[in-house]
Amino acid sequence: MVVILKKNANQVQYTNLVEWLKSMNIDIHVCQGTHETILGLIGDTSRLDINLIKALDIVEEVRRIQEPYKNANRKFHPDDTVVSVGDDFKIGGGNFAMIAGPCSVESEEQIIEIAEQVKAAGATMLRGGAFKPRTSPYSFQGLKGEGLKLLLEAKKMTGLPIVTELMDLSDLPLFDEVDVIQVGARNMQNFAMLRELGHLRKPILLKRGLSSTLEELLMSAEYIMAGGNEDVILCERGIRTFETMTRNTLDISAIPVLKTLSHLPVIIDPSHAIGISKYVKPLSMAATAAGADGLIIEVHNNPQYAKCDGQQSLTPAAFQDVADTVRAILPHRYTLNKQM
Ligand code: PEP
Ligand code: MN
Repeated sequence: MVVILKKNANQVQYTNLVEWLKSMNIDIHVCQGTHETILGLIGDTSRLDINLIKALDIVEEVRRIQEPYKNANRKFHPDDTVVSVGDDFKIGGGNFAMIAGPCSVESEEQIIEIAEQVKAAGATMLRGGAFKPRTSPYSFQGLKGEGLKLLLEAKKMTGLPIVTELMDLSDLPLFDEVDVIQVGARNMQNFAMLRELGHLRKPILLKRGLSSTLEELLMSAEYIMAGGNEDVILCERGIRTFETMTRNTLDISAIPVLKTLSHLPVIIDPSHAIGISKYVKPLSMAATAAGADGLIIEVHNNPQYAKCDGQQSLTPAAFQDVADTVRAILPHRYTLNKQM
């Protein structure tokens, strides 16, 4: 971080600033120019409040040179993080995750049938919401604890690890046997929840907030990692833009940018991004070609009658087609990357 001081800065305030920075274990390199004094701050500046320094009378400008996230930063961890799920599945570092399943768990028959169908199509993990964040309080809110039990049953039947959303920390004790805990877009900045999940030793699928920047997403990952849980999977699921033809806008740029800034795996949720089932395939193809570490796709055995998000859910047959196409793209993207 670089702090540029105002001309003729008050000496007492200057000494106070220097003393305060030293008390924070920051070394200071002073560069005395003819017109201005520049302080180069050396050390872990991620804990410094940049706005607090900017607000000081003697400060002209402050510039961050290093990103405010450390654990999630590729600079300090050049190799890709590979997140292990259960004994057999891995995400990141060349391991591609194909996560599929309904928006919400509706019944035993529904989840078991879908689990078997997506497994047959090559899914590596089963998704399904038991606690659903719905815009309307009158919409189906999920089967809650009962839904979790049904997911575990589907896991037992198929061997597929499960990923499901935690909406409220008070439900955490119910998630013991869940393989991957999803933090939904609406909870991306629920800092109390993120901190608590940092104490677990279980992978967390962290979805990008509807209007969150990539840096905010990485700072949320940092909350989890600061607690010692390094198994965070980032998920781009579409952001709010002025476009109304689609549910959200898939930010494809998030893939190369996040993968440059961070070593964490990045997966794409084309279903919530576009909100229309017939467009899920092209988005899945684009995300795969752009270097995503996996996809999370909504699949329903009877989309028309789905209790949630039927309009964007693929039939098992359509999912099979997407999965086959993605598998056909994967070897080419690795070959092309090597040539770049
Ligand atoms: C979901 O995955 O079912 C979901 C609600 O996603 P998001 O938090 O991205 O809206
Ligand atoms: Mn959904």
